[in-house]
Amino acid sequence: MRSARTVDEALAILRDETRTPVAGATDVYVALNFGTFAPRSFLDIWSLDDLRLIWTHGDTLVIGALATYTELIQSHIVGERVPMLVEASRQVGGVQIQNRGTLGGNIANGSPAADGVPVLSACDAVVVLRSVDGERRVSINEFYTGYRKTVMKPDELITAIEIPPVKGKQWFRKVGTRAAQAISKIVMAAVRAPSPRISLGSVAPTVVRVPRTEAALAAGASIEEAAEILGGEIAPIDDVRSTADYRRRVSQNLLRRFWTETG
Ligand SMILES: Cc1cc2nc3c(=O)[nH]c(=O)nc-3n(C[C@H](O)[C@H](O)[C@H](O)COP(=O)(O)OP(=O)(O)OC[C@H]3O[C@@H](n4cnc5c(N)ncnc54)[C@H](O)[C@@H]3O)c2cc1C
Repeated sequence: MRSARTVDEALAILRDETRTPVAGATDVYVALNFGTFAPRSFLDIWSLDDLRLIWTHGDTLVIGALATYTELIQSHIVGERVPMLVEASRQVGGVQIQNRGTLGGNIANGSPAADGVPVLSACDAVVVLRSVDGERRVSINEFYTGYRKTVMKPDELITAIEIPPVKGKQWFRKVGTRAAQAISKIVMAAVRAPSPRISLGSVAPTVVRVPRTEAALAAGASIEEAAEILGGEIAPIDDVRSTADYRRRVSQNLLRRFWTETG
């Protein structure tokens, strides 16, 4: 494994060599352990401290890709602006995982069950990607193209996540087998605004927004009508963690709770 001391050095290595970046390694180690990664070379980016900063630029909150869950939990500015991201971070794994797992890794890993991604999706966050050729910004809601597939190129790093001001009450709920160390069966993040924004994990091949449900609520539909629409809008599957039917019903219940608790 090579390691990089600066972002520019990391990007030059990714241009010249085929290497998989490793941040906190909490997903990478699991993949290696289960043999789901083909043999490959790695690039350790953990020590790129410039990518760990959390700051504001105008009214945009900028979170470095290497910010860990612990750093998100401890950040006053994140707590003020996106309390549901703090809530989600508290529910990721246990303390050890929170100390190593990064927000950039959660996004790049591409799991439909990722807890950070629905929060970013409901916030209309933007993923900042950088390569030696320059920087580009992609909405988190256009970042995934399929199950664990993203628009990211092999020579790009996620350097930051930009979150515009979030207007409206924020709500996050994760339903898993137990409170800690459990991958979610369903996760929902939502913002109660005149045009509500609702994002779900574990109900489709990627984390998804539910535009038909959002539009119905914005137009004044009852929560029961919206729950009915949600049931038809998501496409959960049966797997080792749960069944499609359970996931659909829990999603509808979470929608009802979001609506009553933020009303
Ligand atoms: C016991 C355990 C419990 C867990 N619990 C949860 C949970 O409750 N909720 C949850 O969402 N996740 C959970 N996870 C998964 C994992 O901890 C998170 O997804 C974490 O955010 C991954 O970050 P990382 O820095 O460790 O990523 P890594 O393992 O370092 O990388 C993951 C992937 O992202 C890529 N990558 C990482 N950083 C970048 C970057 N800056 N630019 C481009 N590509 C990058 C890597 O190449 C790799 O493909 C758990 C994992 C374990 C082992």
